[in-house]
Amino acid sequence: MSKSIAVLKFGGSSVKSIGRMQHVAKIIDQWRQSQLTLVVVSAMGDTTDYLVKLASQCSTEPDRRELDLLLSTGEQVSITLLSMILREMGIPARSFTASQIGIFTESVYSKARIVDIKTDNIMKGFQDHDVLVVAGFQGVTADGDITTLGRGGSDTTAVALAAAVNATTCDIYTDVNGIYTADPNLIPKARLLGQVSYEEVVEMARLGAQVVHPRAVELARQYNVLLRVRNTFKPHCEGTTIDGGENMEIYRSVSGVAIDKDQARVAILDVPDKPGIAGTITQALADNHIVIDMIMQAFHPTIGMNNLTFTVHQSDLNQTIKTLEQLKAQLGAADVLADPDIAKVSIIGAGLAGQPGIAAKLFTTLGSGGVNIKMIASSEMKLTCVVNKADSEKAARLIHDAFELETTPSKGSLTF
Ligand code: ASP
Ligand code: MG
Repeated sequence: MSKSIAVLKFGGSSVKSIGRMQHVAKIIDQWRQSQLTLVVVSAMGDTTDYLVKLASQCSTEPDRRELDLLLSTGEQVSITLLSMILREMGIPARSFTASQIGIFTESVYSKARIVDIKTDNIMKGFQDHDVLVVAGFQGVTADGDITTLGRGGSDTTAVALAAAVNATTCDIYTDVNGIYTADPNLIPKARLLGQVSYEEVVEMARLGAQVVHPRAVELARQYNVLLRVRNTFKPHCEGTTIDGGENMEIYRSVSGVAIDKDQARVAILDVPDKPGIAGTITQALADNHIVIDMIMQAFHPTIGMNNLTFTVHQSDLNQTIKTLEQLKAQLGAADVLADPDIAKVSIIGAGLAGQPGIAAKLFTTLGSGGVNIKMIASSEMKLTCVVNKADSEKAARLIHDAFELETTPSKGSLTF
């Protein structure tokens, strides 16, 4: 019987130096004892940032094809060096770029989506090698142009490969132990989650807790790839398993609290209360590729008028204001307001839906802690409050305490 395939992904900090790569090579050596090992690596340390900076010194708006070809070199450095280290240890290993494997993407630069992965070259590679080292983050178009999948895209490469070769596992090695109930740098008593569902991780990532790239988790959910996040520097630590929630701690209603400080609140005031207005405003923003969230249009005391309020990523704030200012005259709006000093603080949990009392507990906790809530949004798996940025860490601590997230929920009891 042929051996099964394990996919391992090592992020930039895990391959930051030759010393770290030598450490990574030892982990790979363990894996390849029992399985064919497909390794995906990121660029060394902050290489990609450095390359972006170099490009910005050459051009205010670098040509996208050139930029992607440039950024893809970072991963080419790490795959070859790691392969050399493995070979030096006597391990039959070979490195491959995405175009050598055949990781095909759409013809979109800087955030291309994978459309197809050829497995022939992988299978051929495994005929003579125990370990194949593949460049993350990059792809190739049908015309042979090199693309990139968007920052942090190596996770996506790993999951896509795991799905393509039907791997038994996809282990994402990083510099933290796994996924916590909160950022342990902010809340030292945050607890490592042994198991969490795809949906919860996607929400956590979207709401500011970036451990695995949300796109990679979406893909894992779609193809049922069992993901595990673990620490390169504590390889014996079990880490966090991400799956469909089959073995969930079902008694847990809140899994974690996340903070996103890179947000801004925007409002357009006194627009006419008639059909088509919300559509016009949001379409203008969409035309400028601006993603908006927490959209609110509520009861307005003046008959015939509405306020539309929403949040945007801080990097989109200037463009958002510009777009709304242009609409202001057209719609006869009174004003455009922007507040960049806000943060989103959210609780996430697969068991949130239909649980009475959770929202009340959240708001009461913030209220008695003196934290003012500026906006509220809820969906099946999360409750988000916009608060002053200066209050956000305090808010997260209060919430972590109130919902006792540091203690492992015991079966049979709800945790709120
Ligand atoms: N090297 C790329 C980046 O820094 C891809 C990755 O690390 O996943 O964004
Ligand atoms: Mg990186």
